[in-house]
Amino acid sequence: SAKSGGRGSFRFFEPELDRLLQARRSLERDMRSALANGEFELHYQPFIHVASGETCGFEALLRWHHPQRGMVSPAQFISLAEETGLIVPLGEWVLRTACAEAAKWPDDLKIAINLSPVQFRSPELVPVIVHALASAGISPKRLELEVTETAIIQDSEAVFTALSQLHDLGVRIALDDFGTGYSSLSFLQKFPFDKVKIDRSFVSELSGATDESRRIARAIVRFAVSLGKTTTAEGVETREQLDILRADACVEVQGFHFSPPVQSEKVAQMIGGRTPAAAERPTVRLAMAG
Ligand code: C2E
Ligand code: MG
Ligand code: MG
Ligand code: MG
Repeated sequence: SAKSGGRGSFRFFEPELDRLLQARRSLERDMRSALANGEFELHYQPFIHVASGETCGFEALLRWHHPQRGMVSPAQFISLAEETGLIVPLGEWVLRTACAEAAKWPDDLKIAINLSPVQFRSPELVPVIVHALASAGISPKRLELEVTETAIIQDSEAVFTALSQLHDLGVRIALDDFGTGYSSLSFLQKFPFDKVKIDRSFVSELSGATDESRRIARAIVRFAVSLGKTTTAEGVETREQLDILRADACVEVQGFHFSPPVQSEKVAQMIGGRTPAAAERPTVRLAMAG
């Protein structure tokens, strides 16, 4: 501890900081065994085509069921996994698990997977993705990779090379959390994005408290739509937000108004027991609340 004063201890730290560091070290230790112990799980949240009401696919979102702490949210462990490099094996597990899950769905449904900037530093990223697709037996066209502007800024060349290779294979690329980063228009043009996901902070402001915040949010939505890519609004929680997004020609929506992230068994129910072998033209619908 901070008081013991032995060699290598951090005597100069404030007790609070010392406590935080200890907590991080213990979380890090636990995370190292969590993958082997099967404590991670993926939940899946649908994204929905506004005009038809059809489900386009599901985004995989990581959950950690810690034996003592209970549920630990990604906000608490992703950045630690990035700092320790554990995100690389963890991210590989996510890719394999999510692709295997999607293999059980009708093949018009996409699987969206979040990638950390750190994963792009591994030369194995593209082969790992190709292998995950091949062993699940799903087409690259069904995979959507979500990257944030932070990833692009941190390691622009490596990210550009990997995303271009993947895009050439038919994988779709989405820019996540749009509006929160620093991407210039030239980034948006240079990178092979198929989709822009408008950050939840703007979507919630669509029905926000002040005229000004509502105007800014709507301008962000219209700007995203004007780029001519598929636009997905994240974090849609109300009918009012949906109506504004529809009026502004946003293509897809995702959020608690439709469904929270759900377990794999629930996905099976939502898609109505249809299997990949189903021959008829797929019409997957979710009840549009409201
Ligand atoms: P994200 O990719 O932007 O995911 C959207 C987050 O918003 C998810 O939080 C989702 O549960 C939440 N959300 C969805 N709809 C609503 C809504 O209507 N209202 C509100 N309040 N929240 C909504 P979650 O699952 O806690 O994930 C947080 C972030 O952690 C993700 O943001 C993503 O950046 C990261 N993450 C999650 N899973 C993975 C993963 O497998 N790999 C990597 N690298 N990052 C991941
Ligand atoms: Mg995402
Ligand atoms: Mg997002
Ligand atoms: Mg986010």
